[in-house]
Amino acid sequence: MSNLEQTLSIIKPDAVERNLTEEIKKIFNKNSLNIKDSKKLHVTKDEAAEFYRVHQSKPFYNDLCAYLSSGPIVVMILEGENAISTYRKLMGATDPKDAEENTIRKLYGLSIDKNSVHGSDSLENAKKEINFFFKN
Ligand code: UDP
Ligand code: MG
Repeated sequence: MSNLEQTLSIIKPDAVERNLTEEIKKIFNKNSLNIKDSKKLHVTKDEAAEFYRVHQSKPFYNDLCAYLSSGPIVVMILEGENAISTYRKLMGATDPKDAEENTIRKLYGLSIDKNSVHGSDSLENAKKEINFFFKN
């Protein structure tokens, strides 16, 4: 049975800075994740803090918010069959050194914090995260 989903992707500052946006978009296209909308922006630290609020109790929260707001990012809505799990698999493990071969984080991630991409982890969070960046 068909299960068309949408998920939120963020190309994080380390990858935008290294001009990897087009390479990463090609990977999405090859894997049947259609880019429904895309924009480049630079969030404030307060906006990053709101986006990552689920992590507010974590020791890395402050650095994470500082990092996401440190430079331009590209946010995208991806749509496809089982898009949430398809994209999570394609991203690879949070820490690039644990990520499988040919995943985006294995190919491009620099470290656990500068790991090049974000992807929603559930249907509920995908809806919230898409709405956060693409309110209409
Ligand atoms: N992160 C970090 N240190 C850690 C764990 C996570 O800097 O020990 C950062 C990392 O950039 C990660 C983000 O916090 O992508 C969100 O963490 P999460 O556990 O949700 O990982 P993800 O869903 O991105 O794989
Ligand atoms: Mg996560």
